[in-house]
Amino acid sequence: MAWQEKIEKHLKGVKRNESLKNHTSLGVGGLAQFFYFAKDFDDLIKAVSVARNAGAPYRVIGRGTNIIFSDLGFEGLLIVNNSNDLVIDQESGRIIADSGVALSRLILEAASAGLGGLEPLYGIPGSVGGAIIGNCGAHGVSIGDAVLSASLLVSSDKIVSFPSSWFKFGYRTSILKYQKNEAPPVVLKVIFQLQRRRKENVLEEIAKYKKWREIHQPLGEKTCGSIFKNPAQTDNIVGTPLKEKSAGYLLEQVGAKKLRVGDARVSKKHANWIINAGQAKAIDVRTLIEKMRGLVEDNFKIILKEEIEYLGVWNEENYISASGDYRKN
Ligand SMILES: Cc1cc2nc3c(=O)[nH]c(=O)nc-3n(C[C@H](O)[C@H](O)[C@H](O)COP(=O)(O)OP(=O)(O)OC[C@H]3O[C@@H](n4cnc5c(N)ncnc54)[C@H](O)[C@@H]3O)c2cc1C
Repeated sequence: MAWQEKIEKHLKGVKRNESLKNHTSLGVGGLAQFFYFAKDFDDLIKAVSVARNAGAPYRVIGRGTNIIFSDLGFEGLLIVNNSNDLVIDQESGRIIADSGVALSRLILEAASAGLGGLEPLYGIPGSVGGAIIGNCGAHGVSIGDAVLSASLLVSSDKIVSFPSSWFKFGYRTSILKYQKNEAPPVVLKVIFQLQRRRKENVLEEIAKYKKWREIHQPLGEKTCGSIFKNPAQTDNIVGTPLKEKSAGYLLEQVGAKKLRVGDARVSKKHANWIINAGQAKAIDVRTLIEKMRGLVEDNFKIILKEEIEYLGVWNEENYISASGDYRKN
């Protein structure tokens, strides 16, 4: 039996040809050949196990806020992870979160329990799993700073817990980022160590960072956050000479805010963000990304590297070379 038949036979509720536009914050991309919404922890394990046993390519995503799927879509089983258990031990400051828990919920519930440490990350619209993969962060604080350990599903029935050091957290990266593997390990649960703080102080910090985002980021638009990493390899740049090494600063200097390709345009508020202003295609976004990179390279001899990740089928039909040339589908 082919893997496609096995998926349909063993995974009740699986859909075919689901639009990826509906499952990513940028709203671009083709179709997922097979699509499954994992409503909780057991459901997530079941879906991944079915895919592994069937020999099907699969991918787990969280809120789809750091990825760009190609217009040619995703071949295999795409699993959206909505596992959502969150257990807080106020005494020890430890939190055990399912990988599908929204990061902002984790930070708010921690605050209610008088625990803090991750407030600068409030407002990042991703899940705990996605946050771990890319070691998301802001204002010099990254999620990895608070991770004690995390468990991974490494085969269809084997769960292994790894300490924080195993993940090799770095600036917007971890050992698990950019996996090209067709059967990648899946983050299941994460144990965090937060610090005991006064609830009012934590909530005040959260409000401060929320306000900062409202002022500096094009919230409410279809975006996927920062496109490029800062060449300074840190986001702790406000008020320091490193400001000149921020991707946003460099892009602003070269006039990137004027760029657009189709309905994909650079935000007027933040030169390192792309907005889907209507019916942008993934190819428009990727072409725009190459133009942005090209301008910075021409002017500063700095080659910006993506923070976002390209998923799905990117081949010679829709691949764009570094010079910005590309062949349309
Ligand atoms: C408005 C906005 C603001 C943002 N601000 C910030 C910011 O300040 N700092 C920052 O760092 N980022 C920011 N981002 C980017 C993004 O929100 C974060 O990187 C976030 O952590 C991604 O989480 P996600 O659940 O959306 O991951 P997804 O985009 O769904 O997935 C990202 C990667 O992780 C993998 N993955 C997801 N879950 C699992 C799992 N359980 N097991 C294995 N692999 C998994 C996916 O396959 C994919 O490779 C922002 C984005 C937006 C739209």
